[in-house]
Amino acid sequence: MQKYFPTALERLTEEFARLPGIGGKTAQRLAFHVLSLSEEEARGFADAILDAKRTVHTCPICQNLTDADCCAICADENRDHSVICVVAEPRDVIAMERAREYNGVYHVLHGVISPLNHVGPDDIRIRELLKRVADGSVREVIMATNPDTEGEATAMYLSRLLRPLEVKVTRLAYGIPVGSQLEYADEVTLLRALEGRREMG
Ligand SMILES: [Zn+2]
Repeated sequence: MQKYFPTALERLTEEFARLPGIGGKTAQRLAFHVLSLSEEEARGFADAILDAKRTVHTCPICQNLTDADCCAICADENRDHSVICVVAEPRDVIAMERAREYNGVYHVLHGVISPLNHVGPDDIRIRELLKRVADGSVREVIMATNPDTEGEATAMYLSRLLRPLEVKVTRLAYGIPVGSQLEYADEVTLLRALEGRREMG
């Protein structure tokens, strides 16, 4: 295959193309944009990537992303640590926090069970959740995975695992249509979903 661009430019384009949601054309445009940066700007960009990679890790308690020993929410003594809201992704924590009504803590699964995408129970942070609940001080676990097929299946699976641990397991009462995503729900909708949560059978 004939090479149109210098190797370094092609490599940069390939790296951008590997990012989620970035097609070939966009990758090329981003690579050209990087070339137009000053040396200082380019270094700042590269440093931001390395810095994020070096300092950000998962909270050992809730598995949310943090750059501290444990995240700010887990470290907050004013929050109710006996109520755990289970979400699929770190961005869902931000969505819940936006509603400003929830005062418990979180557990981030980092995905949902999805046989189609070869994601099984061992591939997400379920073990860590069970361990937290088994420790005994948890009153309620609120399932806040998305109301789509995989989110519902994951919530059902978890509620079955949690049942023997004698903890109350509830599910958000979504007023939002089935198939929609938590992160796009507005504050009022989330508030209603939280207030109307029902115990899972
Ligand atoms: Zn945490």
